[in-house]
Amino acid sequence: MTNINPPQHSCDDYDPHSLHVDEARKRILDSLSRVNDVEQLPVRQTLGRVLAENIHSTINVPSHTNSAMDGYALQASDIPASSTGELDVIGRSMAGVPFAGKINMGQCVRIMTGAKMPEGADTVIMQENVTTDGDKITIGSTHKPGQNVRQAGEDLATGECVFQTGKFITPADLGMLASMGIAEVRVQRRVRVAFFSTGDELRSVGQPLEDGQIYDSNRYTLHGMLTRLGVKIIDMGIIPDNRDAIEQAFESASELADVLITSGGVSVGEADFVKETLEKIGEVNFWKIAMKPGRPLAVGRIGQCHFFGLPGNPVSAIVTFYQFVQPALQKLSGQVPSEPLLLKAICMEKLKKAKGRIDYQRGWLKTDEDGELIVSSTGKQGSGMLSSMGRANCFIVLPLESGGSEVGEKVVVQPFSGLI
Ligand code: AMP
Ligand code: MG
Repeated sequence: MTNINPPQHSCDDYDPHSLHVDEARKRILDSLSRVNDVEQLPVRQTLGRVLAENIHSTINVPSHTNSAMDGYALQASDIPASSTGELDVIGRSMAGVPFAGKINMGQCVRIMTGAKMPEGADTVIMQENVTTDGDKITIGSTHKPGQNVRQAGEDLATGECVFQTGKFITPADLGMLASMGIAEVRVQRRVRVAFFSTGDELRSVGQPLEDGQIYDSNRYTLHGMLTRLGVKIIDMGIIPDNRDAIEQAFESASELADVLITSGGVSVGEADFVKETLEKIGEVNFWKIAMKPGRPLAVGRIGQCHFFGLPGNPVSAIVTFYQFVQPALQKLSGQVPSEPLLLKAICMEKLKKAKGRIDYQRGWLKTDEDGELIVSSTGKQGSGMLSSMGRANCFIVLPLESGGSEVGEKVVVQPFSGLI
C-alpha cells in the first residue's frame, strides 16, 4: 500500500513527546531554592559571590559637595551679565585639604577636582576659561550658575538601599561598597558541586590510551565552567560503568555536595543502569528534550543533593550545562537566574536543520563595517566535535519550527557571556 501521509518531519529522531527547552528549564528552576547558609566576609573576598543582605548607605557619596574641575569656585551671582568681571582669589581648596574660610561677593577660591566647595561658593569656572593676573581673575559672562559642581549624596544618599539580597557582586560593586566605607558583608556560602564522568572507555590526561579508549574531556570543560561560575568544585574523577562503583559515587557525592553533575551514561541502553541506581537511592527523571545537541538529560535528587546527568557527547554536555545547569546553580546560589540574552544577527551562510527541535549551532558573532551584527558557523556541528565549540563565541539558536536558515536571513544568537 502506498503511504499517502508522508511523515511531517524528515528527521528520524523527531519525537513529538519531547520536552521544550523552556519547559525543562522552568521545571528545573521550580524544583530548587537557594542554599541557606550565609557567611560574613571582608569586601575583597566577596567578588563573584551573592549578597545575603540588603545594603543601605550609611553616608552620602560623595560625602561633601566638591568640584568636578580644576578651576575657581565662586558665587553664581558673580557671573557678569555681559562683558567680563573681576574677582579676588582669596585662597585654595585642594582635594583633602579644604579652604577654611567663607567666600563673599567678588571673591573666589582656586579649587582642584574633588576638593570641597568652600562655604558661600556654588559654581566652578574651569581654569581654561579664566585669565589670571596675580591674585585676580577675569571671567566672561557665558558661564552657568551651579556648573562643574558635584553635590553631596548625588551618587548615593544616606539611607538609600544600594544593593538588594541576591545581587551578584562585580568589581564595580566592590568599589561601591568601599566608597560607603563598608568593610564586611554577608554573602551566601558557595554552592558545592561534585562531578564525575562515567564510561569504561575514558582515561584522564597523563594516562596512556589503549585500543578503544578516549580521553575524558567533559570533566575538564565542567571544571572550567564551574570555576567561572564561582562554585566550590569537587572533582570525583572517572567512574567506570559498574553498578557498585556508580552507587558508591552517588552516595558519597550526596554527602559532600549540594549538586552532583555527571556526564555520559544517560543515553538509551546505558540509562537503565544509572536509572536503576538512582531509583534505589534517590529519584530521577529522564527527559528527552526537543533540542540539538543535548537531547537526553537526567534530572533528580539524592537526599538533599540535586542531580544533573548530562549527555556524554562533549558538545551536548556543554550545551545542556549552559541552558539548564547554569541557571539552576544561579538560583541555588541565591541569584535571580538571568534570562538567556538573545540577539538578532544576520546569518552569513546557509544552515541546515531538521524541524521539531531547537538547534544550538556554534557560531562566531561580530559586527560588520556598518556596525550590524553578523554571525557565521564555526564549522562541523557534530555533537562530539569540540573544535567548533572552541572557535565559537555564541550559539546560533534556530527555533523549533525552523527548517534552517538562508544567507542574509536574521537569526537569533546567544552570546557565551564569558562562561564557555
Ligand atoms: P554516553 O552518553 O555515555 O553514551 O556517551 C556518548 C558519547 O560521548 C560516547 O562517544 C562517549 O565515548 C562520549 N563521552 C562520554 N563521556 C565522555 C567524556 N567525559 N569525555 C569525552 N567523551 C565522552
Ligand atoms: Mg558511556
